[in-house]
Amino acid sequence: MYLLHNDYKISWVGKISTKMIADKELLKEVVTELVGSEAVDVAMYLRGKTKISEFIIAEELELEIHRTRFLLYKLLEHNVVTFVRKKDKIKGWYICYWDLKSNMLNQLKEKIDKEKIDKLLERLKREQENQFYLCKNACTRTDFDQAIQQNFKCPECGQLMALQDNQRTIEFLKQRIKDLQKNKGEA
Ligand SMILES: [Zn+2]
Repeated sequence: MYLLHNDYKISWVGKISTKMIADKELLKEVVTELVGSEAVDVAMYLRGKTKISEFIIAEELELEIHRTRFLLYKLLEHNVVTFVRKKDKIKGWYICYWDLKSNMLNQLKEKIDKEKIDKLLERLKREQENQFYLCKNACTRTDFDQAIQQNFKCPECGQLMALQDNQRTIEFLKQRIKDLQKNKGEA
């Protein structure tokens, strides 16, 4: 089926089985994490459609064509979308037709979660292996080496810094890691 918007905006709208349609929440999360919230509308627009001209995306979302392309290439960089380039028979120029890579989303989400877990594990290690000093007014928190360099005085307000019990931070980090690992198991 052909959708004629005008002479240079032609798109093929095929039927996709519902199974292939990306989960909204998953798509939103993955795009926000990898590209940023400004690309969410573009990705959402492609959801459930196939081979959509970038001119149509721009028009439907009321975005400038350069901005639309910029966001599409960002999504492409992160493997969220793919495209085919076709020469327009009438105009003689090339138009890109875009598709969402719905089957990649779970994999991308796993990668995002893994990176988050790795970062948290690193932070946990740092918390477990170091002592931290906190200003009484809570403006600064430093590790032992920094605290010594500053003679245990807060660089912001000059108050004395005291050894902080970071057990709660450690517990919080452990819980966050556990939650993310649990999600991973369910994905
Ligand atoms: Zn202070």
